[in-house]
Amino acid sequence: MSGTPVLEIDAITVGYGGVPAIRDLSLSVGAGEILAVLGPNGAGKTTTLLAAVGALPLMSGTVTALGAPVDGAVERNARRGVTLVPDTRGVFHTLSVADNLRLAKRKGGGDLDLVYEYFPKLRSMRTRRCGNLSGGEQQMLALAKALLAKPRVLLIDELSLGLAPIAVQELLPRLRSIADDQNMAVVLVEQHIDLALGIADAAIVLHHGRVALAASASDLRNRRDSVEAAYFGRSDQSDVAS
Ligand code: ATP
Repeated sequence: MSGTPVLEIDAITVGYGGVPAIRDLSLSVGAGEILAVLGPNGAGKTTTLLAAVGALPLMSGTVTALGAPVDGAVERNARRGVTLVPDTRGVFHTLSVADNLRLAKRKGGGDLDLVYEYFPKLRSMRTRRCGNLSGGEQQMLALAKALLAKPRVLLIDELSLGLAPIAVQELLPRLRSIADDQNMAVVLVEQHIDLALGIADAAIVLHHGRVALAASASDLRNRRDSVEAAYFGRSDQSDVAS
């Protein structure tokens, strides 16, 4: 990774009701970089994102974003530019596309024209009620809304949840160009491994709440068998980044 990390998670243990769901987990992402977080159901991907935005208390370890500790004040962290796109999409179904975006702009102050430039389809659908959009279109809107918060660190939980691969193929490369254009750090939880590795700079595979594999995306594209092994908890510990 090049430059100073804008998000640095150092040896965190986080859980629910005193029971750890992720243990001793570390990762870092630099400006303009995309880190893919992969792993089977229940591996701890969502928990990692929630901890990174301050939505879950740390049992141990530290989270630092943009040079300051991330604490439990989720709204304040968001105002500093640490933004989560949850897998529940966060769009208002009874409102139009334009009204959803206007609300997000009022709250976050981002550039609506730029967002319409990134997603021209949203401009053409701006009078449509969000409840009538396809899953892919709703995800596009969720991402557009998040960008209006002017994120410096964007954490995305399964953007492609329930989407056809073709919709994911459209969204993920768009995310890559936005990260480049905005010099934005992205942590991307994703089930479509090959599509995620296709746009990411680096990736980690979680298994049972621990980092089972960490490497550059280009390395992992050539070592798909290692990724599979990590999914099933059979990775070589030498693969784990220190
Ligand atoms: P998925 O791909 O299914 O969303 P994930 O990798 O995001 O899974 P997490 O949602 O982070 O996994 O869950 C990690 C572990 O923590 C799991 O064992 C899960 O059952 C547990 N867990 C998650 N949320 C809670 C909660 N609110 N209360 C108790 N346990 C939870």
